[in-house]
Amino acid sequence: ALYQNAHFLTAAVQLHQAPDDSGREVAFAGRSNAGKSSAINAICHQNSLARTSKTPGRTQQLIFFELDETRRLVDLPGYGYAKVPERIKLEWQRHLSHYLESRQSLVGLVIVMDIRHPLTDYDRQMLAWGRRAGLSILLLLTKADKLKRGAASAARLAVERAVADASGQVEVQLFSAPERQGLAQVQATLDRWLHV
Ligand code: GDP
Repeated sequence: ALYQNAHFLTAAVQLHQAPDDSGREVAFAGRSNAGKSSAINAICHQNSLARTSKTPGRTQQLIFFELDETRRLVDLPGYGYAKVPERIKLEWQRHLSHYLESRQSLVGLVIVMDIRHPLTDYDRQMLAWGRRAGLSILLLLTKADKLKRGAASAARLAVERAVADASGQVEVQLFSAPERQGLAQVQATLDRWLHV
């Protein structure tokens, strides 16, 4: 019931607007349209908790959802696709990397990728920052329902190979929001990270 309890806590453009840096939180990143909002909503069994990143004005905010008194999920901006000036993009990137590296309560990073377009420049950047910050990382290959079973497995293997390293901190799994595929598996990973 933990994820079903998720509710909006606060939105922050600057890190000093974020909730107290205590307890544990897991952040969700994803290029616009990758399926991040749908994944968060499916995980939390809610229809409209996370709004689509296309909503104007919300794009550059970190959205904090409270699960219980000590645990949170965070919806990160998907600057990779947004049509904004380069100067603004660089500023968002600075904020994001600062958040990922300085946030003590942040224990894990879920990078949501459209299984048909995995490991974009945006994804690789987030992966690099997550690794540098020593975070546990889950690459969520969503929209798996768009591929046949064999093609989806092959895509997962290709991503696993591409990111393989000795540290073992990166996991890769298939997901589909409408079909609820991989839902229990993500929740199990989040449980582990959040010490549920
Ligand atoms: P966001 O911008 O990353 O938050 O992406 P959204 O969650 O808003 O999804 C973008 C589009 O992809 C929407 O039209 C969703 O309905 C669709 N979508 C998201 N997840 C899935 C999925 O698992 N399967 C399918 N077939 N479509 C999805």
